[in-house]
Amino acid sequence: MIIVSACLCGINTRYDGGSSSNEKVLKLLKEGKAIPICPEQLGGLKTPRCACEISVGSGKDVIEGTAAVISKDNENLTREFLKGAYEALKISKICEANTAILKSNSPSCGCGKIYDGSFTGNKISGNGITAELFIRNGIKVYTEKEEIDNITY
Ligand code: SF4
Repeated sequence: MIIVSACLCGINTRYDGGSSSNEKVLKLLKEGKAIPICPEQLGGLKTPRCACEISVGSGKDVIEGTAAVISKDNENLTREFLKGAYEALKISKICEANTAILKSNSPSCGCGKIYDGSFTGNKISGNGITAELFIRNGIKVYTEKEEIDNITY
């Protein structure tokens, strides 16, 4: 089983109430190979919600307690993002998933690159909180931008 970001399946979980539908990820779901999750909803955040970014650092720093998740209207939502990441990990363990395809650049799901906390579209190297937690727990994380067809799981 593969864990996938719900928004990649066309589910309207994004902060703006929309999705980021990806044909190949949706195909995996239709074939019964994928489980969609949205860490931010699992953390108790509503949809739509105010955009959030990690300030200053990456998912690693949030997990280690040296960075925070701050919304565009300046609310500290670190606790909700961490809760969502651990709930997502719980689901991945229940279904014994060793692979995930997560939405690029997100403060939760991004892998390799994430937004830099300035809400300007700039990106830095690093993983979102859920992606980082997955990797620390032995789950291989890909984004939808990679060659999904070649992923083995
Ligand atoms: S937290 Fe992940 S699954 Fe949820 S909307 Fe953001 S990128 Fe998509």
